[in-house]
Amino acid sequence: MVAKQANSPPVPVEQAATLRQQIVALLEQRTVTAKDLSMAIGLPEKQIYHHLEHIQRSLQQHKKRLCIDPSVCKKCGFVFEKRQRFQKPGKCPACRGQAIEEPRFSLLSSD
Ligand SMILES: [Zn+2]
Repeated sequence: MVAKQANSPPVPVEQAATLRQQIVALLEQRTVTAKDLSMAIGLPEKQIYHHLEHIQRSLQQHKKRLCIDPSVCKKCGFVFEKRQRFQKPGKCPACRGQAIEEPRFSLLSSD
């Protein structure tokens, strides 16, 4: 017989939801990089990107959107405008430099 207990072990789905709430709260306060979020929440950057994807999708229902400030090459100033992605590009297509500023994220109301 399986009895449902109130204090069952944490469910990963709920954990993820809480983490996303924390990320959203930080995004609402200021513009942040994945590194900022990673340090604030204590998750590897890889997982931050994963959560950001979910947040981006769920925000549409809340009349908000995730704004991405594109990466910029520190060497030649090339702006990665077309790359609306969370992860920092590896190389600059213009000068092949690898010193690239990370994209930054913030929340905007879409109305
Ligand atoms: Zn460059």
